[in-house]
Amino acid sequence: MTNRPPRQVACPGCSRPTVYDPANPWRPFCSERCRLIDLGHWANETYRVPAEEDGLEPGNLAAAETDVLSSFRE
Ligand SMILES: [Zn+2]
Repeated sequence: MTNRPPRQVACPGCSRPTVYDPANPWRPFCSERCRLIDLGHWANETYRVPAEEDGLEPGNLAAAETDVLSSFRE
């Protein structure tokens, strides 16, 4: 009973059935291309978060705090 059918998974890149086996160097992806696309996708997600935080403009937050303090003084 050594003739097991190869285990198959859906490629995270293109959802096609992919052989999950040491013979497939790109597992669980079907190909190098899908693997690189997925890595690039995660890299973009990683870079997008700090970019949005930089867009918060802390200067506006400081101005709002100043307004609150001056209203307490009056
Ligand atoms: Zn694929």
